[in-house]
Amino acid sequence: MPVLVVKFGGTSVSDVTRIRAAANIIANCQKEGFSVVVVVSAMGGDTDRLVDLAQSISCHPARREFDMLLASGEQVSVALLAIALNERGVKSKSYLADQIQFVTDAQHTRANIVRVEVDKLFQSVAVGEVPVIAGFQGVSTDGEITTIGRGGSDTTAVVIAAAMDAEECRIYTDVDGVYTADPRIVEHATRMERISFEEMLEMAALGAKVLQTQSVEYSRRHSVRLRVLSSFKNGGGTVIDTEENERMTNLPVSAVTYDKNDAKITVRHVPDVPGVAYQLLGPIADSGISVDMIVQNVSVDERTDLTFTVPRENFDVSLKILNRSVPKLCKEYPPDDGKLIEVIGDDTIAKVTVVGLGMRSNVGVASKMFETLAQYGINIQMISTSEIKISVVIHVDFCEVAVRVLHTAFGLDAPKD
Ligand code: ADP
Ligand code: ASP
Ligand code: MG
Repeated sequence: MPVLVVKFGGTSVSDVTRIRAAANIIANCQKEGFSVVVVVSAMGGDTDRLVDLAQSISCHPARREFDMLLASGEQVSVALLAIALNERGVKSKSYLADQIQFVTDAQHTRANIVRVEVDKLFQSVAVGEVPVIAGFQGVSTDGEITTIGRGGSDTTAVVIAAAMDAEECRIYTDVDGVYTADPRIVEHATRMERISFEEMLEMAALGAKVLQTQSVEYSRRHSVRLRVLSSFKNGGGTVIDTEENERMTNLPVSAVTYDKNDAKITVRHVPDVPGVAYQLLGPIADSGISVDMIVQNVSVDERTDLTFTVPRENFDVSLKILNRSVPKLCKEYPPDDGKLIEVIGDDTIAKVTVVGLGMRSNVGVASKMFETLAQYGINIQMISTSEIKISVVIHVDFCEVAVRVLHTAFGLDAPKD
């Protein structure tokens, strides 16, 4: 029988009613003629609750202990779902990462997947059982419990689907597909029947949390067909499998995304000489922080301003690192006009992005984006572009408005009924 991997997110197993509903969906997938393998997230809100608990005790809990704690959320949900399946007459067993050997490296809280052994899963489905696997967690090569990054159960599901050569990987969540914008923000967002890996990858990376970025990357690399569906209602859904030539729409922009998880840092009056950007950004990157959207101004009197974004969770530590590097630079390059090198942080920003393969063949997307934001008095602080996306940094207070007006301006609103 062909294998189907189905994944349930937190809201889809948030209480006993939802767990029973998930068990029904699984039973129906079996009726479609599949050997079903299940991946589950922690019950809705549980992982956040565990994070808050740890942080109420320590600002910097040891990452090993953090993983030990966070992985416990999924242990609860897998067992409850297996109990619900057995109760419903569907034979089932739950598994943690070390029981099936979902192996990662030892980078706690953002471990990289090394390999997964699926023999046990094949044996389980061969005897008519439904294995229910804890998403998000791994076991390191030296036996430690790890996690693979927030939202990681999507990736667990895709990795297992690839290893078992599954027919497809279904991601059951609380929306019935991928929309042209977050449907919680844009009332008239449109569900996409299909979307290319390339666009989905940009959307996920730029804030559309419906799929974790790594899961899209992995499914593209291993040709796993992904389908996003609602566990709350039948029908709908979005398939992520198309390549550019199968593009369904002629619009230049396919979706608008936003991300409030970044912060902006500006280092002012930086000497405009080789090696300085490295002196400032190198130590930040060395501590595992990803620096994004780097902009350097035209220099005046051989001094320039360097602005970049970092994940908001790394904002404080990035400022600390910079404030260690800056005195050294000041000594090396004493200002002759009194303009000291200074570091300015701002964690009240949002990144709003328009994404679309159609941008390749349409000019004027950037000017339309800037014109639309200007009409609504929204100031653009930073801009970054690639072949199929344009991102702007704006004040966080204007984020939702910006997403809505851009969605309308690029013709993405669903027709009003
Ligand atoms: P789960 O707990 O099932 O993993 P997530 O909360 O991680 O679910 O992802 C689903 C959420 O993603 C939706 O509730 C929705 O608000 C959000 N989302 C953001 N952008 C989009 C989009 N473009 N299309 C669909 N959902 C989106
Ligand atoms: N429970 C984990 C989280 O909340 C993993 C997931 O939901 O995919 O991030
Ligand atoms: Mg998720």
